[in-house]
Amino acid sequence: MILGRQGAGKGTQCVRMARHYVVPHISTGDVFRSAVKEGTDLGLKAVEFLDAGKLIPDDVVIEVVRDRLEQPDVRSRGFVLDGFPRTAVQAEALESELSELGLSLDLAIDLQVPENVVLERLAARRVCSTCATNYSTTKPPHVNWTCDVCGGEVVQRADDTEDAIRTRLGGYDGQTAPLIAWFEDRGLLATIDGLGTADEVTQRLVRAVDQQRLG
Ligand code: AMP
Repeated sequence: MILGRQGAGKGTQCVRMARHYVVPHISTGDVFRSAVKEGTDLGLKAVEFLDAGKLIPDDVVIEVVRDRLEQPDVRSRGFVLDGFPRTAVQAEALESELSELGLSLDLAIDLQVPENVVLERLAARRVCSTCATNYSTTKPPHVNWTCDVCGGEVVQRADDTEDAIRTRLGGYDGQTAPLIAWFEDRGLLATIDGLGTADEVTQRLVRAVDQQRLG
């Protein structure tokens, strides 16, 4: 599970970790974005929070994650959690859900990137609206803003505006950052430097996870 300010590279690294360990990538942000796109009830509930960069109410998020954790692929292979938990209530709910399912977390990763770098990355960020692969204005897809992986349209996220970014960073410091101590108390925290190339950061993450899993 990877914690980190928005724009710290959390999404990209979660995708890479899920590929490396061949496990499902559970991203609450992706679930809400596709619900909004499809216009489902969940999407209608989520859209105003998402666009404003505000956290979606705990009960809604917890229900989504609970449904996903109960799928058989999670039980057999494990999982990478991206963007959850983000509040103390969510962390408590995760702990009790996992214990009911007879599962546990290997590690919570705090991916550290200074705020000025985060702001630069968020302003430049572009994502595939179909498969959520990340790009940037400095590293665009090869052809005409269509995704190299799936051919989907590559766009700027609706919540990557200056106001929404400020709200999200404020929410991170107020509600999510305290979880770092929560995981540390449980002996589950690894702090990883998020600066450098994506490959360098992935190597650091894999080393930390392997160390924890293999002892
Ligand atoms: P992300 O893609 O992880 O940056 O999430 C995008 C947006 O989805 C957030 O700004 C929130 O509006 C919503 N969201 C995702 N995960 C959560 C969560 N665990 N709790 C509350 N809101 C969330």
